[in-house]
Amino acid sequence: MRHKIEKTWEQRDMESVFHPFTDFGTLNSKGPVVLTHGDGIRVFDVHGKSYIDANSGLWNNVAGFNHQGIIDALCQQARKFPGYHSFFGRVADTTVALAEKLVELSPFSDGKVYFTNSGSEANDSVVKMLWMLHRRNGQSQRRKIITRLNAYHGVTVATASMTGKAYNAEFGLPLPGFLQTDCPHYWRFGRDGESELEFSQRLARNLEELIIKEGADTIAGMFAEPVQGAGGVIPPSEGYFEEIRPILRKYKIPLIADEVICGFGRTGTMWGSVKYNMEPDAIVASKCITAGYFPMGAVILGKELSEELIRVSEEAEEFPHGFTAGGNPLGCAVALKSIEVIENEGLMENVVKVSPHFMQRLRKLGEHKYAGEARGVGLMGAVEIVADKKTKQALPSELQISERIANKALEKGLICRPLGAAIVLGPAFIITEKEIDEIFDILEETMVEVF
Ligand code: PLP
Repeated sequence: MRHKIEKTWEQRDMESVFHPFTDFGTLNSKGPVVLTHGDGIRVFDVHGKSYIDANSGLWNNVAGFNHQGIIDALCQQARKFPGYHSFFGRVADTTVALAEKLVELSPFSDGKVYFTNSGSEANDSVVKMLWMLHRRNGQSQRRKIITRLNAYHGVTVATASMTGKAYNAEFGLPLPGFLQTDCPHYWRFGRDGESELEFSQRLARNLEELIIKEGADTIAGMFAEPVQGAGGVIPPSEGYFEEIRPILRKYKIPLIADEVICGFGRTGTMWGSVKYNMEPDAIVASKCITAGYFPMGAVILGKELSEELIRVSEEAEEFPHGFTAGGNPLGCAVALKSIEVIENEGLMENVVKVSPHFMQRLRKLGEHKYAGEARGVGLMGAVEIVADKKTKQALPSELQISERIANKALEKGLICRPLGAAIVLGPAFIITEKEIDEIFDILEETMVEVF
């Protein structure tokens, strides 16, 4: 009798799954890590190997991988009203409760929430909101969107056009009308003899020049992450948002805070936009909104913008845009519980408590010969690998050094993220100082072995 040859999970994956954002060289040589479950900040693969996840999934699993309260909330809602009917003219009670909670949490005195299933969809929806608003206000030429170099706003055609990453050239993006201004990264782009504040002032002048050159009446809005995440964890330079805010007001350009990573406590405050005085007109949220237990995105519109949008939508009879599963009550129940956990189980307090230790270990890693800058805030951090600390030159790209570090760390049971030349960390909000030490001990050892 012939024995059936059992395939491994890795082989089955490689025969059936098309992976997003994955280096095919590494994937084809080893296959992916196939996970079965998680516990606290750790995940386990099909071979029983344990990994510390220093990225909390993709910045989202902030309450750990097996939070019983969130699991219970999901199950309870599943028993009550699991399947979604339609958001068009109807709504689930749980969805209303979440909208109220989000407005209450937001910096806005009043507002409205628009639900999506992801961060990309939420940003994309705001673009359409702005386009419709200006068109209805007799300014249909007001379509251009400003974002910044190194920004990440998503993967839809519009949001990829807003994302300052070179790989989007693969798709022939950005589309026309998506403009880019400077990235507020003082260490990388500051000039000799220029103070950090002077740098921010220069960037604000550049922004105003761009607006004037393009014509203020052609610009629909500007999007900015409070701290650039996928760009390599770049907190704004000193005074940056205070400098650009009056310029945007002067030209009546709405500012949208993309809080997909920063929102719900990652920077040590509920909103990164509040921490950095952005004073946005709307906030885009996702990721931590459900602590990674359900796909969800939300646009929290501030009072003025929501009133204007409701007015023009009434004129048009509707806002002709919506997702089948946007505002799904399962996700809303999970979000209500996740927010409760973040607020009431000391998660925000823990970010504030352990952040100094996280930053201290990050800076120590930054003393390595090939570490250019160690930067971060709250529980988000990056170490940028360079060939030379003085010139800040990257190592030759064929070395893919950050990927080699991440791959080596993975062998040692640590998940961290290579992003360009940087190693990026964004652990769960429940992390302890001891677990922070475990992460950095492995990284220090890895750096010695790689170099
Ligand atoms: N905006 C920011 C700041 C993000 O970091 C991301 C994803 O990482 C997105 C938008 C896109 O969100 P999603 O992947 O849920 O579409």
